[in-house]
Amino acid sequence: MDVTEVVPGLHLLSLDFVNAYVWHGPDGVTLIDTGLSGTGPAIETALEQLGLHRSDLRRIVLTHFHDDHAGSAAELASRSGIPVLVGRGDAPFVRGEVPGPPPVVTPAEQALYAVATADVRPAPAVPVVEPLDDGHVLDVAGDAVVLAVPGHTPGSIALHLPRHGVVITGDTVAEHQGRAILGPFNTDRAGAWASLQRLASLDVDVACPGHGRPITGAAAALRRATDPFG
Ligand SMILES: [Zn+2]
Repeated sequence: MDVTEVVPGLHLLSLDFVNAYVWHGPDGVTLIDTGLSGTGPAIETALEQLGLHRSDLRRIVLTHFHDDHAGSAAELASRSGIPVLVGRGDAPFVRGEVPGPPPVVTPAEQALYAVATADVRPAPAVPVVEPLDDGHVLDVAGDAVVLAVPGHTPGSIALHLPRHGVVITGDTVAEHQGRAILGPFNTDRAGAWASLQRLASLDVDVACPGHGRPITGAAAALRRATDPFG
């Protein structure tokens, strides 16, 4: 697994086909997304590469409930006893109270969806989560602003790190060949597109998507984003 510095204090963990991010600063260590179920040991190895230990983790933030992002949250949180934070709209799905809504798969997405979901085990439920609302400020990276970006899932969130010129987008944005695109497999495609436009209005240098590489020149790249699967 690759561990790549995005900006000082923020690292990308490339977990197979999905990303997680680690913030490490004076306000502690925060893990954003957790990969597939069973990825916990790989994340611990990545933390060790950064000179950190699982016990240094202060919180886990999930951008949304999907199995490839929430997969190892239960495992990591139960061992560390740390809180798991998720957008309010996705909290019931992460808690396992009700199944999350499936995406509306477009004809252009069907082949990719079959591949993307072939080996994905359901994310074990996280019985207790802290729901996040739009505008909530987290003590991460010297203030991280929670942005509700519904559409990919009902409770998708992005994290804006204004002091660092970074937005962590979850799957509202994906990177393809260096460009920003609307992430595929949305519950509400029009809503996801509107949420992407909101992210495009931010003054940011780097967008950190759920899949693909970080996107530099992010504000302009997001304004030029396309929806190739629509
Ligand atoms: Zn997703």
